[in-house]
Amino acid sequence: MHGRLPSLVLPRKSESEVLLPPVAEDEVLHNNSLIQQLIVAAKDAALLHGVLMRTKEEPSSSEATSYAPFSLFPSPVPKKLFTQACEVQQDFNMLVDRISQDSEFLTKALASTVEVDDFTAGLFSIYKEVLKEGIAQPITLGINRSDYMFDRGLDHNVSLKQIEINTIAASYAGLAERVPDIHRHVLNFWGKSDEAAKVLSNPAVKGIAEGIAKAWQLYGSPSAVVLFLVEKVSRNIFDQRCLEMELWNKNIRVIRRQTVDIHERGSLDDEKKLFVDGYEIAVAYFRTGYSPEDYQNENCWQARLLIERSKAIKCPDIATHLVGTKKVQQELARSGVVEKYLTECPKSAQRIRATFVGLYSIDEGPEGDEIITKALEDPESFVLKPQREGGGNNIFGEEVRQLLGTIKDGPKRSAYILMDRIKPQIVKNYLLYPGTPSKLSDCVVELGVFGVYIRKCRKLIMNESAGHLLRTKSTEFADGGVSAGVAVLDTPYLI
Ligand code: ADP
Ligand code: MG
Ligand code: MG
Repeated sequence: MHGRLPSLVLPRKSESEVLLPPVAEDEVLHNNSLIQQLIVAAKDAALLHGVLMRTKEEPSSSEATSYAPFSLFPSPVPKKLFTQACEVQQDFNMLVDRISQDSEFLTKALASTVEVDDFTAGLFSIYKEVLKEGIAQPITLGINRSDYMFDRGLDHNVSLKQIEINTIAASYAGLAERVPDIHRHVLNFWGKSDEAAKVLSNPAVKGIAEGIAKAWQLYGSPSAVVLFLVEKVSRNIFDQRCLEMELWNKNIRVIRRQTVDIHERGSLDDEKKLFVDGYEIAVAYFRTGYSPEDYQNENCWQARLLIERSKAIKCPDIATHLVGTKKVQQELARSGVVEKYLTECPKSAQRIRATFVGLYSIDEGPEGDEIITKALEDPESFVLKPQREGGGNNIFGEEVRQLLGTIKDGPKRSAYILMDRIKPQIVKNYLLYPGTPSKLSDCVVELGVFGVYIRKCRKLIMNESAGHLLRTKSTEFADGGVSAGVAVLDTPYLI
């Protein structure tokens, strides 16, 4: 294909300040026959390299499997901001871990939320019960992912701004590690070998598996296993399998069970060791348990409590799960809070603070009233967020006005927080979803950085930044991730 290609421009901005893929001129992006050839090559590369997902039609079977949604080209990402996101990750690990040990802070921060949000209240009551009984396991494992967008400020300076931090079931490390292979192939196929060589590698699975393996080792029982708690329907099973395989390769046995299995067949012995189907559990790694649908009946809550009370090392423990709520994120943004938890490392606090946008409590009272009035006047500048995970739950635009109008006069408003709306840089790309013709789209990217840490008693004995995830979605969607069928997997192309 080499000879027929237009010259390379790196990176380009079209007239409307939209960033193009770093290897494409506008006319290349509209060269349908070239694009179709690249798409065919890319899809086969995705299958070959294991960027896989079960299909919508058969979400419980690996018999029908296709590629996981991904972008044809790597998207441009400012190097400075990518580095900033990687560098602040250890600071975030430390902050999350410290907050998780402060029951007074968590109780106060979540007090108004648990009054009106049953799901958060359910998690919180497990937390209280565990605190009352005493924590059986002094070691905790954290695997989180801090997500950012590149905000186009009023001055057109693009800056790194945090969307949220996920402290439970932070996913896509497995597939994200494999996407660079597709993008390298697309670029090579096109004859752009210099650019292909620049596509970043992403050691996400390696870093995360090292964390789980280290926790397993610290548990100190060679015959004990790692338990993956999974949903009944796991379309994204291959992402989890990447991690499982890495552990099997380290001679660590992994078992997969649903919460209901733990209720039916899990038990604690008199030392609070957790046993399931005859296996002693060293590490309980949650890939479920973050949304109300994961707790369909009381048995699921009982199972979560059983795990939390046990001696198994939890990833995350219930306290760390709660630190990931939107409400806690909002309380952390208050002046002086981050700084208080990181007094001996003011630089860490500064690095964290630099990624925050405005976050606001809308609890009853003058502070909440004032920000609600602002949001009613200018809903496009805010996002209204409930205490939910997994994408698709936030409220944008005109709906902010509508919902605030209905909740503003009662206690229900405490179930939500308001956040400044980030206006991200637009990039062009082709987004590939199985069974859907692809078209050139205006997109926004969201960069996630994985963090892994282990604390023993009060001391962090591991604290790492462990790879990244770039997700891209069409500007038609304000919300929604890869699992929701909205975003696709991508690779940062540093510019
Ligand atoms: P979830 O836990 O459900 O993933 P997020 O806080 O990550 O919740 O929000 C989901 C999506 O909503 C994000 O991926 C992003 O597209 C959009 N979003 C969230 N917060 C903002 C914001 N402050 N500005 C712009 N978009 C946002
Ligand atoms: Mg989340
Ligand atoms: Mg999110």
